[in-house]
Formats: sequence, C-alpha cells, structure tokens
Amino acid sequence: MDAPSRVAAAATELDAFLHAPRIAYFTMEIALRNDIPTYAGGLGVLAGDTIRTAADLELLMVAVTLASRAGYFRQRLDENGRQHEDPAPWDPAAHATPLAAKTSITFEGRRVWIGGWLHVVQGHMNGRQPVILLDTDLPENHPDDRLLTHYLYGRDETYRFKQECVLGIGGLRMLQALGFDASQYHMNEGHSALLALELLRRYAHPREFVRPGESPYDIPRVRELCNFTTHTPVEAGHDRFSYELVGRVLGDIVDPATLRLLAGEDSLNMTRLALNLSEYVNGVAKRHAEVSRTMFPGYRVRAVTNGVHPFMWTAPSFRKLYDRYVPSWCHEPELLVRADCCIPDAAVWEAHVEAKQALIERVQRATGVTLHPKVPILGLARRMTAYKRPDLLFADLERLKGIARNRSFQIVLAGKAHPRDEDGKRLIETLYGHMHALRDSIPIAYLPDYDMDTALAMVSGADVWLNTPLPPYEASGTSGMKAAFNGVPSLSVLDGWWVEGCIEGVTGWAIGDDGREHDAEALYQKLDQTVLPLYYGYSGDPGAWVRVMKGAISKNASYFNSHRMMRRYAAEAYIR
Ligand SMILES: *Cc1c(COP(=O)(O)O)cnc(C)c1O
Repeated sequence: MDAPSRVAAAATELDAFLHAPRIAYFTMEIALRNDIPTYAGGLGVLAGDTIRTAADLELLMVAVTLASRAGYFRQRLDENGRQHEDPAPWDPAAHATPLAAKTSITFEGRRVWIGGWLHVVQGHMNGRQPVILLDTDLPENHPDDRLLTHYLYGRDETYRFKQECVLGIGGLRMLQALGFDASQYHMNEGHSALLALELLRRYAHPREFVRPGESPYDIPRVRELCNFTTHTPVEAGHDRFSYELVGRVLGDIVDPATLRLLAGEDSLNMTRLALNLSEYVNGVAKRHAEVSRTMFPGYRVRAVTNGVHPFMWTAPSFRKLYDRYVPSWCHEPELLVRADCCIPDAAVWEAHVEAKQALIERVQRATGVTLHPKVPILGLARRMTAYKRPDLLFADLERLKGIARNRSFQIVLAGKAHPRDEDGKRLIETLYGHMHALRDSIPIAYLPDYDMDTALAMVSGADVWLNTPLPPYEASGTSGMKAAFNGVPSLSVLDGWWVEGCIEGVTGWAIGDDGREHDAEALYQKLDQTVLPLYYGYSGDPGAWVRVMKGAISKNASYFNSHRMMRRYAAEAYIR
C-alpha cells in the first residue's frame, strides 16, 4: 500500500473505535508482542496484559504510549557476563497504520508536531483494542525533536521530561484530534501524570467567574475523570523535575501557584500530581498499597493486586490441557479453581514434561548447556538490579554444592540490567562468576536477552520459580503468577503478590518470614529440607509434587489473572 492509502486505511480502521466513550489508558511502556520492543519490564508487560484482557472482555479502552522506535535494547553477554547493549529498532509501519491526525506541543518556544500510529490488539476471542503510538519523528520537526519518542527511558532529565510531556499532554491532545471520547483516564504509573494538567486547562473556569483567591480550575471535575495506579514502593523511585526545568521547557502551562500546590513545593513530583488529581488511586498488591499509604499519608490508596493474561502466559501444552478439562478458562480463568479436582495428575505432569523439554532445548540452542529432563530446574528471571537480589541463591557456594550433592538440581537464569545501572550489570558478571565456580557441581545456564518469549519458556519449563527480592521493594511481581498458570510453584520471599499467593506447601513455599539477614539460610533450608525431598518423592507420597503444581493452578492462576484485575478496575474505578 502507498502512503496515502495507508492513511485512508487507518482512518477506516479507527472509525470502528470512535462510536462510544472509552477508558483512555496511558502508559510509558507496553509489551504488545515479542517483536515490538516498546517495553523494558514488568510495567510494560502489565500494560500489555491490561489491553489484551480488555480485548477479551470487550471493555472499551484505548491505550496511549510512545512509539519508542529505537526500542529498549537487545542484550548480548560476553564470556565474562559483561552486558552489551545492541540497538533494537523496530518499524511501526510493520505493525501499525499511520494516523492522519496530528497535534503539537511547544517546548522551549519551539513547536513540536506529534503524529502517531494505530496498532490494533487482536484478542484471541474476537475483541479488538486500539493502541495509539505517539511519534515525533516527522519531517516538519527540528532534528532534535524528531528523536523525542525514540528512546524508552533514555538520555537525560530534559529528554525524559519532554517525553512525559509528549505522553501526557500530547497524548490527550491526540485523542481529541482523533475524535476519541474518553469517559475516564487511567495513568499506569506517574509518567503520564501531566495529562491531568492538560485536563485542568481544558476545564478551567472562564476568567470572569473566578473570584480573587479562588482556583481558576475545576479540580473536582478533573479528579472525577482520573485514575492512578502507583507501582513504586520507594520515595526515590518517583519521577521529579525541577520547576526551573519545567518552566524552561513548558512555560506556564498552568498557573504556577496551582502547580506547586498540586505537584509539590520544591519540585514537580509526578506521583504527587497524579495522587492529587485522581479520585481513584491504587497500589498493585495489598502489601504495596499499605506501603504506599505510609509513604503518602492522607491519601486513600486502594489495592488491586496485579494479574497476568491467561492465554498469553500459558504454554501450548497447558492451553490444550485446560481447553479439554476446563473449557472457557480463557474467558473465565476463575474456573481454574476446579483444576485440582478435575484434571488427572498424569495429564498435568505430561503437560509439564512437554514445556520442560521445550525449555531444555532452548537452553541448549542458546547457551550450549545440557540440562537433564529428570532433574528439577530452578528458574529465576528478573530485571538485574540490586533490590531483586538475583544473587541471594549464591550467597554460600559451598552450602549450595552440599545441597546439590545430596539431591541434584539445575538452574536457569535470565534478565537485563538497565544500561545505566552499573550495579545491575555487575550483578550479571557476579552471577557468571558463580556459574563458573559451580560448573562441575550444578548445571547452570544464563539465557541472554530476556523478553516475553524467553519469559514464557522459563515460567513453564522450570520446576520451581524462585524470587528473592528485598522487602518491601517488590511492589507486586508477576512472573510467579505466570508460573502458576503453568503449574509451576513459587519459592519466594514474602513480598509483593506472594504475601497473598503463598499457602505454604499448597501453592509453593515462603523463604523466611519477614526477616531480612537470614533469607539466604532460610532459602537453603527450604530447598534442602522441603522442596527437593518433595520433588524426588521422599515423602513416600508419589502424588505430592503434582498436588502442589495443581495447588498453584487452582488457587493462584484462578485468582492472579488480569481478567479478575480488569473486572475490578471496571467495577470499582471506571464506573463512577
Ligand atoms: C513478566 C515479565 C517481567 C516482570 O516480572 P517480575 O516477576 O515482575 O519481575 C519482566 N520482563 C518480562 C520480559 C516479563 O515477561
């Protein structure tokens, strides 16, 4: 198709989404498909699962994000485990149609045009959802401005602020230009909070009706329209921009006194802004909501515990199994509550063996490491950053070797470090060092370039899913939920979702109670005395291991799914 007919095609495609009001979901990153690298990690995967579920449930939504044409990055690891970042550019034209509408925003006195792309998420049950990818790479823009939507979480503070302006302010203007009628706005993390400022401008009282000392803005009206999900349990993790920067880039977009009142006295705090302008605010697990309430006293922070998309995160062998024994599980994953009784043990085990074999082959292809199908695999994949403590398992190598001599196990690792997180990168090198030191005792593989495909292969092919974050930094965590859909129990520190998901010995196992320093020792004990003996059938009850697998499915997959999550957002947040 030539360019004009592609634009015409987009216009027709778009028409199908304009007939009724939609929930506008704003997110800096979104994991749409494995070959669209517009995500860095869990936040993006959650956004993707949100839209996929909205498609399945035919909940009317529109997602707004940046095109991130340069992608995040592709990870290459050298023999010492040093991370090298290869560019991961993608071509929006391959997966989206160009939009005819344009809008603009003025930065430092210069107008920046914002165009966009329409990507349609096709649910596997006929539902469809539009995703608008904002793009400043237009010939009419200054060369610097053309790059503004290229690098996900890239470059310096000014660049980041401009990106957040394009997302929040530009995104809102773009929806209007396209003819969307948004009934509610949902900010996935604080990055998009500037949309609320643009709403303030839209709902400003006419000047002649504003008495001295009164706010010129209809703040209650804006609050009625906004919902905010916070994801960061540490104060330092929240985006802040100096008012010097804000003024230089945007000028006085809203009255400066009002801005300081809403976003913080000393600097523009994106989380404060979102908190003050959203009627509905939530954290992503019960524990995380509690932590957020302590961090932001005076705000009503509710809890909607995250979930994962059932179809997306279930391996082919388990999809087949559920199709047969729990029909319509994809639409009503709560039906999996019956899985423990209505699926034969042997069928669960066979489905697992198939997924495990697929992981073993993938590991062999990617790393040359040979894993044994009869030996349990511990899987651990996360963003390589200090608080996730991916090295906790290796705290005492002699101890680990001793456990393996008794009952053997093997390990598969994966994860990227943010390009500027030097500590995170060193963690990968440390893990490589441990792998090397253990090479004669424990088979260990590190799968490079952790992405959605690798994640599914790992959460379904491992026998135990390991998670060892430092509480309370894991807001939710979702990979353990994905594991549950594949009958893989978690062995995890009690933080984030696992506080709600763990029933000891039934859905998996807790590491320690809430104690910190003893976590490594608690991990070794649980592995040595509980998990491995159960796997090898030393309890004298051959069905015991499969019973835990089924516990993970029936107790956790039935609950920690994005269908339950979205039904809650719909009923409790979106319907006012
Ligand atoms: C699920 C997923 C994550 C998030 O996993 P956590 O358990 O929250 O750390 C990150 N990256 C990818 C590619 C994923 O699929």
